[in-house]
Amino acid sequence: MLLRWLVMLVAVATALGVSPRSAMAAEEKPPNILFIFTDDLTCQAISTYGERRRLLNTPNIDRLAAEGMRFDRCLVTNSICGPSRATILTGKYSHLNGFYNNSNSTFDGSQQTFPKLLQKAGYATALIGKWHLVSEPTGFDHWHILPGQGLYYNPPMIRHGEPVKHTGYTTDIITDLSIEWLQQRDRSKPFLLMSQHKAPHREWAPALRHLGWDNDREYPEPETLFDDYAGRSKAIRDHDMGLDRTFTDLDAKLRPAPNMNEEQLKAWNAYYEPRNEKFRQAKLAGKDLVRWRYNRYMHDYLACVKAVDESVGRLLDFLEQEGLAENTVVVFSSDQGFYLGEHGWFDKRWIFEESLRAPLLVRWPGVIKPGGVNSNLVSLLDFAETFLDIAGAPIPNDMQGRSLVPLCRGETPDDWRQSLYYHYYEFPVPHRVRPHYGVITDRYKLVHYYKPDVDDWELLDRQKDPLETINFYHDPAYAETVKELHAELDRLRQEVQETTEPPRRAYGNQPFAGEPPLPKPAKKAKKKA
Ligand code: CA
Repeated sequence: MLLRWLVMLVAVATALGVSPRSAMAAEEKPPNILFIFTDDLTCQAISTYGERRRLLNTPNIDRLAAEGMRFDRCLVTNSICGPSRATILTGKYSHLNGFYNNSNSTFDGSQQTFPKLLQKAGYATALIGKWHLVSEPTGFDHWHILPGQGLYYNPPMIRHGEPVKHTGYTTDIITDLSIEWLQQRDRSKPFLLMSQHKAPHREWAPALRHLGWDNDREYPEPETLFDDYAGRSKAIRDHDMGLDRTFTDLDAKLRPAPNMNEEQLKAWNAYYEPRNEKFRQAKLAGKDLVRWRYNRYMHDYLACVKAVDESVGRLLDFLEQEGLAENTVVVFSSDQGFYLGEHGWFDKRWIFEESLRAPLLVRWPGVIKPGGVNSNLVSLLDFAETFLDIAGAPIPNDMQGRSLVPLCRGETPDDWRQSLYYHYYEFPVPHRVRPHYGVITDRYKLVHYYKPDVDDWELLDRQKDPLETINFYHDPAYAETVKELHAELDRLRQEVQETTEPPRRAYGNQPFAGEPPLPKPAKKAKKKA
């Protein structure tokens, strides 16, 4: 009888994903986890990713790659801020965690999340910086967050529900608060610290120390800066996120960033005003205007990344000074990628590579061989299970990702995923990107733009067309590929428990962002005689 119970217990533990390592290492203190998270930071802006344009040098972020592992194909499941965050916390797709879009979703904080499970496993847990999930954080011993999107200067923040005022530049403040918490934490426990930046989110307001950092450089342009979207779906042509049409005065810094004090504003204007005056006099139009905007955008966006890079350096130095570096896993990532002028765009949302791919760097002394590079298809969907696995905590069966720990050890399981499901929902505000879903493989993407006024399929072939400007869907040479990908898409939709009909309502029983009101229930048709 007893034996049968023991066998059952082992079976349950195995089903939950408790690794033998965690059982063996019971006496050892599990590693700390420092999750440094950014908002809209794209691989093209990180030097270790080897962007051909060589936009920026990021020595501190690169250090994580040199001392740890760089994941080259970490993809998101819904390329937008809030939904990505909800997916990281839950290890589930939007349609299961209920957070579909930034417009009208509210995170249901009563559901299972990995910080709650780590708390249960004995971790001290803290969240500092950008949260962006509307409801109050749950699962954290300590939280100190920006309300909503937050501001770049003198940010109002909320600490355990109480408003707090800060003076200074937000990226620096989030770093200060992170270090402060590390100093005051309960040292008897391992920790999870989620240090989450607003930067480099729109409207890309640089720190005063970085104004003019690039000496008015003229940036190399992406090949698709003037993409004409020929042969593509209306969904792509009819966007509202272009440098040619969407860029506001705040984006262009023709108006100063909000909430600066007098002293800050003076330094700000000393840099921007003379340049803005020159711009006004030049009366640029057409491609010249797009080029001016692109260069202004690069100065500002990359300056914001510079501050993040410095912040990473400060945190890594602190870990070393405190003797924490050896037993702390540092994970660096972003909630999605971003367009730096590719296809004429800024912003994210699309299934195309620049916004689909997020940076992911992991440093784990003693487990990850320094300088490792991994090209497996991984996802933000995998983070929750990875963190639980690192901690040796049980992994619930209903999470939809997969632990990256074997990959960190340099072992790719034979049955590692060959494809990933994607679904984006938010429309039409703010950027008129139509909802779409699709399947992504190493080489191909099959995409369906399905509403409200489109019903278009596209096939992308990254091998033949790395810039993703050609739709091969109707090309007879691809007929077999299209057929296979349709089958794979059907399989994935079933596997991830996607509702066959894309949802008409987001969380909270509200109509979907930008959709017309839901139709009233149809009256029963009278039977014709
Ligand atoms: Ca974001």
